[in-house]
Amino acid sequence: MSEQTGRSWVVMKFGGTSVSSVDCWSTICAQARLKLADGKRVMIVVSALSGVTNLLTRLAEGGKKQERDEILLELEAKHRDLLSSLGLAPSSLFTGHWNSLLHLANSSGSALKPADRALLLAHGELLSSSIGMDALAAAQLEAVWQDARSLLKTTAEAGMDVLAARCSDDTEPALEQRLAAEGSLHITQGFIASGPAGETCLLGRGGSDTSAAYLAACLEAKSLEIWTDVPGIFSADPRVVPESRLLNRLSYSEAQELASMGAKVLHPPSIQPARRHQIPIFIKDSNRPSEPGTRIGARTVREEAQVKGVVSTNKNKIARNQLRATWRLVGFLADAFAVFKRHGYSVDLISTSESTVTVSLDPQVPAHSDELRMSAFLDDLASLCKVKIHSGCISISLVGNSIRTILGRLSAALDVFQDRHVHMVTQSANDLNLTLVVDSEHAVSLVRKLHQLLIASQAENRPEFGPSWTELTRLQPSDDLTEPWWKNKEDQLKQLMSERESAFVYDLDTARKAARRLQKLDSVSRVLYSVKANDHAELLNALAGEGLGFECVSMEEVSYVLSTVPGVRPADILFTPNFAPRHEYESALEAGVGLTVDNSWALHQWPEVFAGRDIFLRLDLDAGYGHHKKVITSGADSKFGIALEHLPVLKQSMDQHGTRVVGLHAHTGSGVSNTDVWREQLQRFLEVLPGFPEVRVLDLGGGLGVPYRRGQAGFDLERFDQLLAETLADHELELWLEPGRYLVAESGVLLSRVTQLKTKGHYHYLGVSTGMNSLIRPALYGAYHDIVNLSRLNEPAEWHYRVVGPICESGDVLGESRFLPRSEEGDIILIANTGAYGRVMSSRYNRRDPAREYIV
Ligand code: ADP
Ligand code: ASP
Ligand code: MG
Repeated sequence: MSEQTGRSWVVMKFGGTSVSSVDCWSTICAQARLKLADGKRVMIVVSALSGVTNLLTRLAEGGKKQERDEILLELEAKHRDLLSSLGLAPSSLFTGHWNSLLHLANSSGSALKPADRALLLAHGELLSSSIGMDALAAAQLEAVWQDARSLLKTTAEAGMDVLAARCSDDTEPALEQRLAAEGSLHITQGFIASGPAGETCLLGRGGSDTSAAYLAACLEAKSLEIWTDVPGIFSADPRVVPESRLLNRLSYSEAQELASMGAKVLHPPSIQPARRHQIPIFIKDSNRPSEPGTRIGARTVREEAQVKGVVSTNKNKIARNQLRATWRLVGFLADAFAVFKRHGYSVDLISTSESTVTVSLDPQVPAHSDELRMSAFLDDLASLCKVKIHSGCISISLVGNSIRTILGRLSAALDVFQDRHVHMVTQSANDLNLTLVVDSEHAVSLVRKLHQLLIASQAENRPEFGPSWTELTRLQPSDDLTEPWWKNKEDQLKQLMSERESAFVYDLDTARKAARRLQKLDSVSRVLYSVKANDHAELLNALAGEGLGFECVSMEEVSYVLSTVPGVRPADILFTPNFAPRHEYESALEAGVGLTVDNSWALHQWPEVFAGRDIFLRLDLDAGYGHHKKVITSGADSKFGIALEHLPVLKQSMDQHGTRVVGLHAHTGSGVSNTDVWREQLQRFLEVLPGFPEVRVLDLGGGLGVPYRRGQAGFDLERFDQLLAETLADHELELWLEPGRYLVAESGVLLSRVTQLKTKGHYHYLGVSTGMNSLIRPALYGAYHDIVNLSRLNEPAEWHYRVVGPICESGDVLGESRFLPRSEEGDIILIANTGAYGRVMSSRYNRRDPAREYIV
């Protein structure tokens, strides 16, 4: 390389949408300037303006003169609009390419041959790079325009497809020296290269990424940046799955797998050249240049087995061939695949059984959509075996690492394929993907469901996953409809922290407002506050003031409520213990508090305790939900509730002892946002109701979710109310609710101070003065809590931190991958929505006192 100190080149590729506006060009100029100021040499690779290659493809089909003229007008308008918004007149370079395009377009009315088609299509990039040259010059950046055909030569393979060719990815010191001598800033075209005789060849649709990768390899670049219209590679196509999560870093193999199996953001052949030369690839968003994006490089840390992406790719017209034959014959597969080779068909997935071989054809290869070629191929193949073709298929791939070791975990999610015809299942030998091919009409809903089950619900606080697409593209927080309370109490909070290291702070009004929202529900007769979420005396009193009763899970909670809340009566309390000793049931009945029994064992073993009493029964309705498996409180794996199949025998025994069941209770789980869950629960209650004529109350438990992430929608109370009212329309029954989190989560914040900072491995660490000793939810459930720097609320959140506490545990991480302003020792860090299950679950682990509680 020409510079003594190591790699000096940076290759930056800008895709179609990243070169089509004035803003894009100011980003490109700014980025180029930054790199040059840093002493780098820069190669800019551009795509055609967005939509242009599609128009050129239509033009290449031939067709009526009028149609072609219309396309040319559209092409002209696109380029002219960009030029005029940049304040530029067409240069002679631009005009030369434009005239050559007109000439090619008008020379024939029939579809062009591949070589001419390649030349015509190349004009998209020739034109955009010509405009780019002038846009750089207008920004006082002196660049050299390079014809990509003089930089990249295709490899001379037999049967090379001029529309989807490959180039060498060897380093080219001579080329590097020539370019270095010509200047520090260059601009060239993506997508195009030259063939053995100097003819124009293309690298396949989307191939500009690959051009940039070849150039990075030739120049032995320091980095390859792919600038596009999304801030990185996501765990699914963000346009299809808005809750998909940014993948902060990927190994080359993972990126290869994601790209090959459908993540269109990267052209699959672009990864190998970078990998071979160990050049890191950065995927960046030209609309949000400060976002760090995705880094693709060699894997440096061991990662747990997991699914990182759900991607799908259209298998379009000719998705699946099934070869029925006596294929045990020696050499059958070799003969069959020779036919594929002879006709230029590339196979991308194979699955085999005793009597059939199913393959799908690589959708990237243009020849596969050529009908004539297809029928010749099928005729040939028919001499070997019976062939059945399925069209309109799509592959859905779960991509991650060590997929085979987590088949058990995947199996529950794979339930979504029930009732869907799965044409084939394949897994990669490198253990990076599991792929299923299904009919394309199911694709979107399957991808969304699988993403929800395998990624959205598992990704919280995993360092590999960054923010969701919704979060990254949401309105600024100041535009949010409801500001969190602490924004209006910033000064008070800072004042409170002036002499403290940490504090839980609660806002009673926020809790009161939540209580009022529930009290207003038409379908609900009674709301009990689940004391375990937060037992701060002033909160209990504030909620009692709104007319709420209390739900307790220990006799200690019962006594505490009775002594702390003036005016509370035993009848305002419902006690719902689980595996508690006998004497707690006796004391509760004696004290006159309501009692829920959740195990038939208690009723069978100590019938005399309940004789002649009114009780509630807690049932296991056999369907559990929750934000984490540890908070799912019904279903086969949960320790709570009485199984429905035990009810008949239990009923007999209760009747004998005069125990009356006046309420049925069920609580499916915690942090549930899908309102349909409660309708389902209510329907199940109604099914068992005929067995219990004395029941007058159905207690739905709690579990109402709150939005922990900024921009996440709140619990849909209106729909909840409507569903409950509809389901219960013909019954004279009371509905009770017993939420905890919903009432108090948003009313609390945890404040702490920045203690130390450190950069190590992949992370910028931000240490704070209290950790899992105050807030264990992130460590225990992988729970997500929003984190902000209260001392720097108005500074841009552009640093990417891992926020950790001081406890001697690797799990003492309060937030993975958080964007915060660059922070300093002593700054006040606020962890939001910690009013529920914060202080009550705290400990003195390491003999560190948890944060104390305050009301503002
Ligand atoms: P460019 O024109 O910049 O080359 P592309 O359209 O080729 O851009 O690629 C960017 C698009 O890729 C995004 O707009 C997005 O819709 C799509 N895409 C598909 N899958 C993914 C994914 N997993 N992560 C990010 N983007 C994806
Ligand atoms: N312009 C080409 C295409 O649209 C190449 C690219 O943009 O990557 O396929
Ligand atoms: Mg692309």
